[in-house]
Amino acid sequence: WEEVDRDRATTSQLLTEQDYLDNLALDLHPEAFWPIWTWDPHYVYRARVGVNRWQFLIDCQNDLSKSITKLNPNSKLFLMREAPQTLFPKLFKAWKITHLVFEKDTDAYARDRDAVVMEAAKEAGVEVIVRSGRTLWDSDELVKKNGGKPTMTISQVQTAGPKIGPVPKPIPTPTSIPDPGETALDFEQEAPEQAPDVNEKYRNEKEKSYSKIAGPNNDFAVPTLSELGFPPATTPHRGGETVALQSLSQTMSNTKYTATFQKPKTAPTDFSPQSTTLLSPHLHFGTLSVRQFYWAVQDVLSEYKGKASEPPTSLIGQLLFRDMYFGAQAALGHSFSHAAGNPKCRFIPWHPTSDSSTLTSSGPGSEAEAMLHRWTHGLTGFPWIDALMRQLRQEGWIHHLGRHAVACFLTRGGCYISWEAGAAVFAELLIDHEEACNIGNWQWLSCTAFFSQYYRCYSPIAFGKGWDKSGAFVRRYVPELKDMGDKWIYEPWKAPIADLKKAGVRIEGDGEGRGEGVYPKPMFDFPERRDFCLKQMKEAYTVGLYGDDPRVLDGSWEGL
Ligand code: FAD
Repeated sequence: WEEVDRDRATTSQLLTEQDYLDNLALDLHPEAFWPIWTWDPHYVYRARVGVNRWQFLIDCQNDLSKSITKLNPNSKLFLMREAPQTLFPKLFKAWKITHLVFEKDTDAYARDRDAVVMEAAKEAGVEVIVRSGRTLWDSDELVKKNGGKPTMTISQVQTAGPKIGPVPKPIPTPTSIPDPGETALDFEQEAPEQAPDVNEKYRNEKEKSYSKIAGPNNDFAVPTLSELGFPPATTPHRGGETVALQSLSQTMSNTKYTATFQKPKTAPTDFSPQSTTLLSPHLHFGTLSVRQFYWAVQDVLSEYKGKASEPPTSLIGQLLFRDMYFGAQAALGHSFSHAAGNPKCRFIPWHPTSDSSTLTSSGPGSEAEAMLHRWTHGLTGFPWIDALMRQLRQEGWIHHLGRHAVACFLTRGGCYISWEAGAAVFAELLIDHEEACNIGNWQWLSCTAFFSQYYRCYSPIAFGKGWDKSGAFVRRYVPELKDMGDKWIYEPWKAPIADLKKAGVRIEGDGEGRGEGVYPKPMFDFPERRDFCLKQMKEAYTVGLYGDDPRVLDGSWEGL
């Protein structure tokens, strides 16, 4: 124990007992070590993943593989193209595995998957070591310290978190790693997943070659986008730990920005550079540890002489929001991601679309379906909303307040369409897509959970204008309007014919098959829709049903 104390004093005064013991437990000195990334069909085939997130993932894998090779020239990242549930039982035997180490994942699907893998490990006599590092505090522990309840406010996180202990500091990077052992593949490989293949549109004949477990050349290599049959990515944002650490260090070097950061004061219309850190995709892919981010900010704060900002608006506040959504998801499990069955999610009888909740689903072809399509493709006829949705499609990232604007517009502040339909579009297009944060924020913006002031609604005209009077952001992402005068940039349908002619713009149609210089008509009269939505929301709040109410689940809510 003297040894333990001395070590702890030198590495960090703030490591908790448990962390220290955890670190010790990893001191395994194995004879062989295989860094593996498995290709989970749940994400690869069943989830809708846009090309920009694929590119980001491939960047991360290449960078990680290079870093591993720097630690040991005989090693790299072993990319295996089979579901972990079926792959690991075979690897345990074939590669004579004694220990399996992985990071805890509290997403509902991931828990089910990892339970299957752990059971297989038990049967094979393999010791499993699971570490929590994806959030500031282990989300399950956070829930326990919150009285076993989902964390629905950041003050609950601020109270429960410190009861677990200080946020652990990341352990130092290793200086070397052992060689990998044999990589025999003489076992039966699973046929490629036949599940509904929503990425099919991107695929080509080459798909057949990556049904091989170790890739077309049997070398466990990271694939390229073209090998996967995708077109080139359009995002300027690149992945990998090297980029993530550079980006963190650049942000932290601006100590005033870091210490005085106030989220509501950051402009959603800023681009190149954006007004917030853009570290979210790195946090999602684990190329930046959220705990490293946290401690880097704390280091800046401890040296900063001026008045620093505080949660909830400060940078630390942003990380607490992230832990809050993870805590809610950890407690609610599968029910968190949907309205149906979710005890914390208010039931709102949204206009039905085929993509939305089972509670309100109906066939395609409806007016709501058409609105959803126009929103998804940035063709609503409201330039501020369209610019944001096109930025999302092209680049895979939009500012938080931009997300507010489009999410409010789709749900309670315009289209009156379910948050689930919007969350599905974000899940495909965001490079930082994080199930807990995406679902939680959509519930917030739609006033179904976390936030309830449904009468506070964003205008698709005044909100953007307030940040960017001349419309530089709109001009960048909606090039049809680039020559439009400042006066009409947010409401081009109101412009006199002479102004439209001068700008070379015609306002007509719904955006489908539009010719050059044509921008769609707005899809509705906004004040009229806002009043409609407010009335509907008020009624739904008065009835006060939640997703787990039997009347919601059996459909008898109609007529209440
Ligand atoms: P910064 O302002 O620099 O904040 C630093 C970090 O704090 C972020 O990287 C992020 O990890 C965390 N953070 C900040 N705000 C939030 C928040 N409201 N909720 C959770 N974490 C936060 N964030 C995701 O990471 N993945 C998602 O899929 C996602 N979907 C969203 C959907 C909607 C409808 C909305 C309104 C927000 C969503 N967010 C999501 C939250 C937030 O918009 C992004 O985390 C943030 O814009 C990322 O940019 P940044 O890294 O520059 O953030």
